[in-house]
Amino acid sequence: MRLAVVGGSDAGISAALRARELVPTTEVTAVVADPYPNFSICGIPYYISGEVGHWQNLAHRTQSDLEATGMRLRLNTRATRIDVAAQQLHVLDEHGAADVLDYDEPVVGTGAVPVRPPIEGLDGLDGVHVLHTMDDTFTLTRTLEECRPTSALIVGAGYVGLEMAEGLTARGIHVTQVEMLDEVLPTVDSELGRLVRAELAEHGVDVVNGTTVRRVSRAGERLLMQGDNGFSREVDLVLAVLGVRPDTELLVSAGATTGTRGAVLVDSAMRTNLPHVFATCRWAAPRTSRAASPARTRSAATPASPAASAPRSSSLRPRRRPHGPPRPRGHCRRVHLRHQPGRARRPQGVLPGIAPHHHPSHRDTTTGRLLGAQLVGRRSSEIAKRVDIYATAIHHGMTVDSISELDLSYTPPLGSPWDAVQLTAQAWVRDTKSDQASSVS
Ligand SMILES: Cc1cc2nc3c(=O)[nH]c(=O)nc-3n(C[C@H](O)[C@H](O)[C@H](O)COP(=O)(O)OP(=O)(O)OC[C@H]3O[C@@H](n4cnc5c(N)ncnc54)[C@H](O)[C@@H]3O)c2cc1C
Repeated sequence: MRLAVVGGSDAGISAALRARELVPTTEVTAVVADPYPNFSICGIPYYISGEVGHWQNLAHRTQSDLEATGMRLRLNTRATRIDVAAQQLHVLDEHGAADVLDYDEPVVGTGAVPVRPPIEGLDGLDGVHVLHTMDDTFTLTRTLEECRPTSALIVGAGYVGLEMAEGLTARGIHVTQVEMLDEVLPTVDSELGRLVRAELAEHGVDVVNGTTVRRVSRAGERLLMQGDNGFSREVDLVLAVLGVRPDTELLVSAGATTGTRGAVLVDSAMRTNLPHVFATCRWAAPRTSRAASPARTRSAATPASPAASAPRSSSLRPRRRPHGPPRPRGHCRRVHLRHQPGRARRPQGVLPGIAPHHHPSHRDTTTGRLLGAQLVGRRSSEIAKRVDIYATAIHHGMTVDSISELDLSYTPPLGSPWDAVQLTAQAWVRDTKSDQASSVS
């Protein structure tokens, strides 16, 4: 079988590797537009901060590691057209030489491209950067090294914007972070965003919420950024990190059907509507309406996923109680182990340094099924692993109630008999029951 893979990042390379693993006779050719196959673009902020010493350390695998698996790599080569009827992929290399690859199945993982904000004067202005590829990274590091900026303005306070605030601050650059919404990290509830904003301020980041940047212009050597409410700042460097949009041109021009936000529609096996053509990019939207539920998407509980914001739909917002003001904890509850020991029942045993802020859980009110969770905490809080507990629970359709029954590991230096995730689920269930009892009485 001849498998043609388009794209050399997480999705494309995963597909190529897995195909070779499962059926070693598969002839896999990966067509990659740039020379950086299998690089961790997620690690870029940590290269900028200096935590990752050399850019080559961002590679999960080297080119020769990949080729040793038996796949063929065609780097600096762009797929230009899929001829679905002839089962051929048309490509163009960096020297302008065209070629045609015959395929039995193609897998398209062209990923995403950064959103360019509608800021007047942005195009073609030196010192204004986006960040998605290794080339973007090199352009930024060149500016950092050659111009030695002392101040930067980051447009956007999503997770990449926050990571870059950390990275630039670590280099001694004063950062102003401008977010058009009312709170930073808008994929989580504002209650948690506030904690993140406090952390940014503690590290000297000047956070400006509720402000849209409208114009950028040169002011001598510097850049003048202007926006709503009289916002105005002169800085040396501007970084626009406003998220991404699906890069679907190749598939769409071949006739693929798209859905929400232009994402190509696929079924649960990642098949597009085009015969034999698969799309593995993270933006591929489910073809069936059932699978379109945010809780069914693969990474609903991961902060990086667009689905992570999905539980903010109105049906999951706090219910209005029959008497009195809305009481958010009916659907969303925060347990802060360190500051609310009375409510949170400090775990038995010793948990040095553990101070997770939990804000779960969004659940289906009729079935009790867990739909999402939000967590914010310090590195020592093992937040990532706790997110994984929720992600696993969501994948298996667990109820909030049944999280208590999980037999999670316990040893005094590292965990408590009831993990904070379980304490939170128990508190949620207790509050829901008491809400139900009071509405009956
Ligand atoms: C700074 C940063 C930090 C991030 N941090 C996290 C994180 O902490 N956690 C997380 O889950 N996610 C994170 N992400 C998101 C994550 O990197 C993406 O979800 C992931 O890279 C998507 O992989 P992909 O393969 O679908 O697409 P992309 O990474 O967008 O790759 C697309 C690939 O397709 C190639 N390509 C495009 N068009 C063509 C063509 N016509 N022909 C041939 N090749 C083509 C490109 O060269 C590239 O190799 C981060 C992203 C950034 C930018």
